[in-house]
Amino acid sequence: MQKIFFIICDGLPDRPIAELGYKTPLEAAKTPNLDKIAVDGISGMMHVIDVGVRPGSDTAHLSLFGYDPYAYYSGRGIFECAGIGMEVLPGDIAFRANAGTINDQGLVINRRAGRIESTKPVADLLNGTEIDGVKFLLKESLSHRIGLIARGKNLSPQVSKQDPKQIDVLPLVVKPLDDSSQAKFTAEVLNKFTQLTIDKLKSLPINEERIKAGKLPANIILFRGASWLPENILSFEEKYRLKAAFVGGAPMYRGVAKVLGMDVIEFDQNSGVTGLPNTNVEAKIKKALAIAPDYDFIFIHIKGADTLAEDGNYQGKVEFIEKIDKAMKPLADPNDFLVVVTADHTTSSQLKIHTADPVPVTIKGEGVRTDDINAYSERECAKGRMGQIRGENLMPIIIDLMGLAEMYGA
Ligand code: ZN
Repeated sequence: MQKIFFIICDGLPDRPIAELGYKTPLEAAKTPNLDKIAVDGISGMMHVIDVGVRPGSDTAHLSLFGYDPYAYYSGRGIFECAGIGMEVLPGDIAFRANAGTINDQGLVINRRAGRIESTKPVADLLNGTEIDGVKFLLKESLSHRIGLIARGKNLSPQVSKQDPKQIDVLPLVVKPLDDSSQAKFTAEVLNKFTQLTIDKLKSLPINEERIKAGKLPANIILFRGASWLPENILSFEEKYRLKAAFVGGAPMYRGVAKVLGMDVIEFDQNSGVTGLPNTNVEAKIKKALAIAPDYDFIFIHIKGADTLAEDGNYQGKVEFIEKIDKAMKPLADPNDFLVVVTADHTTSSQLKIHTADPVPVTIKGEGVRTDDINAYSERECAKGRMGQIRGENLMPIIIDLMGLAEMYGA
């Protein structure tokens, strides 16, 4: 069976930019290897969620892997928590959380506790706290961020946020968002949790030290984005009978891979794989090739182009795309892999946001009908023979190319 290399270049496509002669960064970049993959393969344009829908990265990835985000998505928290190595079980409510600072009146004066370097002491102090039979699990993430999970019976993600997302106001009182007893109970427990974090964090030794040093104390946990995992979700392997691995750096995508039951491949500290624009793309591709004997499907996630576009740095995006291209050489050279190259959404460098413009998609491998395009770009792929597809169509196309699709009818 061919090995599938499934490469998502986050936010790779863009809109035309006047300073680039009305080319997109992908059209302006020199990309001989990506172009070769497109020449040898079949290409098209993909509406990752649906025509005219601006995808988030999380919903986009669910859609690309064939999980309807309208059925399976309830928020980003579970991916963030899974991405930092927390176990997420069906029924758990996961949040995106920060260590923050409130003043004597209880007003939020800083949402990031002065960008505290590590939240480990905060998470360690509160981890395992129980309120009315609900256990709170906390784990430190980057800088001021914390993974927060509520585990217990009769919980619901249908609750409002507590993080006001602004300063000089009180933390919000969590409210149930539907009439269920579960939402009501969850809101009550979360409000008790807020008070408990304030009481307990008062005596945290690092807070005394921070105040002495003129820094802001981490004296509240602010949380938002309640989400959970539907109980009926199939793992990627159950769904497609493909053993899958994730190769990438950024935590949220690790989380998506983990939630879908993929193996997350670890990099050591000096690999240069960071999930940031300075990441070592070549190391990712090399690692993917090295683990290929053990897997059927290797999901490679490359984040940098999206980050640069969201900063409005179109020139940096051009350079990063050229870096991706260099790393892609082993996949462009003759091989017996099925190579899929696409993006999770367009990110406009001018608007600094995701847009609903469809993304180029190319598939190269045995049995693929080729077409006559001569580059991997928004403009060229739009002429490709795959035409226009939706994100949910991509996995069925791959499965059929692999000869694994079940026949519909007789
Ligand atoms: Zn994205």
